Amino acid sequence: MFNIIIKGFTTAGKGLSLTLKHFFAAKNSREILSIQSDNYFKQQEGNTTIQYPHQTLPVPETGRYQLFVEMDDCIVCDLCAKICPVNCIDIESIKSTEAIGQTSDGTTKRLYAAKFDIDMAKCMYCGLCTTVCPTECITMTNQYDKSVPELSLLNYEFSTMTAEEADEKRVALEKQQAEKAAAKQAVMQKKQG
Ligand code: SF4
Ligand code: SF4
Repeated sequence: MFNIIIKGFTTAGKGLSLTLKHFFAAKNSREILSIQSDNYFKQQEGNTTIQYPHQTLPVPETGRYQLFVEMDDCIVCDLCAKICPVNCIDIESIKSTEAIGQTSDGTTKRLYAAKFDIDMAKCMYCGLCTTVCPTECITMTNQYDKSVPELSLLNYEFSTMTAEEADEKRVALEKQQAEKAAAKQAVMQKKQG
């Protein structure tokens, strides 16, 4: 009986000392180290992590975390989609009846993006799409803390064109192509006599 009481006190003492140890150690949190620091990957002491989201760990500016497309600079050439090894870029283009405008590097835009989706759930972060883009408008950002409640929300839709607007552009293109074909036919008939 006496042994059981001693054992009970010993166990309670061990538990309390462990609690106190963690209680005092919890005052120390990890320091935020610069990415250039030689100690960036060192095992830090302290029980608590940084106070996220008020504090964040620095990551390289060139880190491959999330893709972003500056659509104003996109000429919808499809090169990024073609080079993607896992086919996670889905682009649907519509030819414009006239020049739409220019990108910031002066390239003339002649195609609308009816659809420009990137499924980041499938992306393997190789970065190939960013290397082939002629206007450098598709980039990897260093935003690493993107989380979503559903996998489907990782499909990023960059096109802002509505279905109605896309239909309008298609109709305008079909009309222009029909007019051109009719004009060509008329010239041929005139030549034939
Ligand atoms: S980073 Fe690689 S896998 Fe991801 S979209 Fe670009 S080409 Fe595809
Ligand atoms: S390679 Fe660049 S310009 Fe071409 S479709 Fe992709 S993001 Fe747009």
